[in-house]
Amino acid sequence: MRLKRMSAILCAVLCVFWLLPQGAHAARPESATAEEWEVLKRTNRERAANGLESLTIFPALQDAAGIRAVETETQFSHTRPNGTDCFTAIKEAGIQYRSAAENIAAGQTTPAQAVNGWMNSEGHRRNILTAGFSHLGTGHSHNRTNNWVQLFVGGCTTTAIRIEGKQPQFDAAGTLLSKGSVLAVDCDLHGTAYLPLENADYTHNGNTFTVNYNGFSATLPSDSGFSDVSSDAWYADEIHYVTQQGLMNGVGNGRFDPDGAMSRAMVVTVLHRMEGTPAAGSAGFDDVPAGTWYTAAVNWAAENGIVNGIGNDLFSPDRSITRQEFVTILYRYAQKTEADTSTLQNLHTFSDADQVADWGKTAMRWAIAKGIIEGIREGSSTRLDPEGNATRAQSAAILMRYKNTL
Ligand SMILES: [Zn+2]
Repeated sequence: MRLKRMSAILCAVLCVFWLLPQGAHAARPESATAEEWEVLKRTNRERAANGLESLTIFPALQDAAGIRAVETETQFSHTRPNGTDCFTAIKEAGIQYRSAAENIAAGQTTPAQAVNGWMNSEGHRRNILTAGFSHLGTGHSHNRTNNWVQLFVGGCTTTAIRIEGKQPQFDAAGTLLSKGSVLAVDCDLHGTAYLPLENADYTHNGNTFTVNYNGFSATLPSDSGFSDVSSDAWYADEIHYVTQQGLMNGVGNGRFDPDGAMSRAMVVTVLHRMEGTPAAGSAGFDDVPAGTWYTAAVNWAAENGIVNGIGNDLFSPDRSITRQEFVTILYRYAQKTEADTSTLQNLHTFSDADQVADWGKTAMRWAIAKGIIEGIREGSSTRLDPEGNATRAQSAAILMRYKNTL
């Protein structure tokens, strides 16, 4: 049976002022092993139980802790094999700090045993529960024995937080279903550091999930990210898609305005974005002045034959787009980008097929054949509603189907 032993060696918190020019530690610490993440999580649970903010990890500190873990296998001490104290490992990694501490342990086979051992030993426990620490480096080496190292660093100030990594998914009760999201925390001395997000880190309020950290908060949108798009709306996935793809944006104040009108300028702007916003000369429309948010898009669309205007040198940018105008513009865009426009479907099954304008017929036949628009069912008949306006939610659906089909 393996004897578990716990070091009683402690290293007091040093209040040295070691400030180097700020290094860049932007990369996510993927180098941390599952065990090292587990030490971080368990340490943070102990801190949370004592009302303390979580510690975060960053690569340079992980590297220093990894070096120390290997060193403590040959010399179980806060003095390094080269005779210097343990804090030189932090300095050598180029890390600035105002306070630091080290916990070491040997013989424990799991992160739980290591953290529990430290929590049951007064000096180690004090390091874990020091409010002034912001970061933790966790090292684990098991070449000969299982050796565990915690390097604590403090004295920096949080400047911003963000939710990064995998998009978290929640069930209806607000329980986190997915792992892999991290909180990215910027501070004034160390760049960006990270901690894994667990269910307890989120405050669930209606459609929004908020993580609070050191006086900062990061709000995670529900699926779509908009307060007026509920996750069970028919267009939730479509709006999530077009915003993720950068095709459409919200209208401000956290709203998407799904039932709002889609203007002709908006549609052309979306296609222009799909093409990477190329430049174009003026198309000469009297109602498209220079320098508006849609000027470049309308000029580009006109230059490429995707829009023609409405006659008399007018484009009518603010007018709501009709369904047949929308599919016509998409059809011309498909032709321009050499997407498939060969498949056409007869419109005779639609009750109002005769209301489709001559200029819109081919585009409508193509859009129906491709499933880019669907008819509007009313009782036993289905209408195309060519002169009806497309809402922003309907436009998101049209764009998603277009992108997924062509
Ligand atoms: Zn920091």
